[in-house]
Amino acid sequence: MRRLSRRHFVGALVASVPVLGAPRRLLAASGPRELDFHHLHTGERLDVEYFDGTSYLPDALTTVNHFLRDFRTGDVHPIDPALLDLLHRLTDRTKTGRPFEVISGYRSPATNEMLRHRSEGVARNSLHMQGKAIDIRLADVPLVRLRNAALDVHRGGVGYYPASDFVHVDTGRVRTW
Ligand SMILES: [Zn+2]
Repeated sequence: MRRLSRRHFVGALVASVPVLGAPRRLLAASGPRELDFHHLHTGERLDVEYFDGTSYLPDALTTVNHFLRDFRTGDVHPIDPALLDLLHRLTDRTKTGRPFEVISGYRSPATNEMLRHRSEGVARNSLHMQGKAIDIRLADVPLVRLRNAALDVHRGGVGYYPASDFVHVDTGRVRTW
């Protein structure tokens, strides 16, 4: 219920903007930001407000760091808040009503090395090892549309893996594969 009422409050703010003559987009962008996740390997769910309109919320970031831990080893690493903002942009762009389904968040060097030997397309210096990358899908958005939304946001790397049914996004250089 708290989440619903916050949404309504934000909606009311945005609706009042044209009367004030302020740019609607700016005000909307300065509101709180939340993300909804479902981790496909751990089965865990997380619905978290990580930015309150002014600051990133340290407790929320700690929760996210734990949620996106290396599920194979249990290792926790800070997740780049810019990656969360990227996901938040994707929520807006795709208009999804579902959580991000997480295939892979942080990967420890040991896990990355293991995966590199097991499958192609795992980089030696993967940004997953810096908490700057995530592999995701959305149940209500075709994979290609999620990929295109990520390309439109233009904030880092976008990898398209239709055979494995996920999109990789990261906050590194802008590049595509
Ligand atoms: Zn990835």
